[in-house]
Amino acid sequence: MLQSVTLQGFKSFADRTRLDFGPGVSAVIGPNGSGKSNVVEAIRWATHQARARELRAARAQELIFHGSGGKAPLGLAEVRLELRTPEGERVNLARRIYRDGTAEQDLNGRPARVRDVHGALRGTGLGPGGLAVIGQGEVSGVVQAEGKTLLGYVQEAAGLSRAVTARQDTEARLREADTHLDALRLVLQERAVTLARLERAAQDARRWHDLTLRTLTLQ
Ligand code: ATP
Ligand code: MG
Repeated sequence: MLQSVTLQGFKSFADRTRLDFGPGVSAVIGPNGSGKSNVVEAIRWATHQARARELRAARAQELIFHGSGGKAPLGLAEVRLELRTPEGERVNLARRIYRDGTAEQDLNGRPARVRDVHGALRGTGLGPGGLAVIGQGEVSGVVQAEGKTLLGYVQEAAGLSRAVTARQDTEARLREADTHLDALRLVLQERAVTLARLERAAQDARRWHDLTLRTLTLQ
């Protein structure tokens, strides 16, 4: 569940703006051009669901407030999201872009990689392929999805994608363990050969010992 969105310097949001979403349905209303779509785009951007070009910006820097209504352009755009996963975990995300093109993202207050962000969002609908945000013009694509794409949507909606990933991880570990097992079997085979040789040597030694004793007794 998305709990809050905080925008600062993102598109039309020059001043720090925080939107808190309570339980239930929230609607964002406002006149044309007041920034409703920008809020949705901020969510898609902060969750790495969309690149700048899919957010009506030719370059990532165009996501930064470029000045309007007597307000000067800013040097930085930041979007912060507070989320709660289906398991009740709190997830805090922040994504920033500077005018020089430098980008940063934090996951729970620490710098993170994109894949960490995607991992944290799995099962929330806001990860890759998630359906929590459906843009205008994407509805027919979702409705007409088939095969693997459709399966992906259903798994994500049913909260299965975490389990699917866990299963893939486990399968990979199993394959690794199998490889180790094969290597160990080889070692075991080699040891068995050595053991057989040592057993023969021990037998010979025992015989030699017996024969020497017998020879001594005979004398
Ligand atoms: P509609 O009801 O028409 O869909 P909306 O509420 O969705 O409108 P948005 O499309 O979110 O409005 O906002 C558009 C506004 O954001 C425009 O006025 C545009 O100039 C402004 N805008 C977009 N990028 C920037 C930017 N980098 N800096 C400043 N303003 C920007
Ligand atoms: Mg709009």
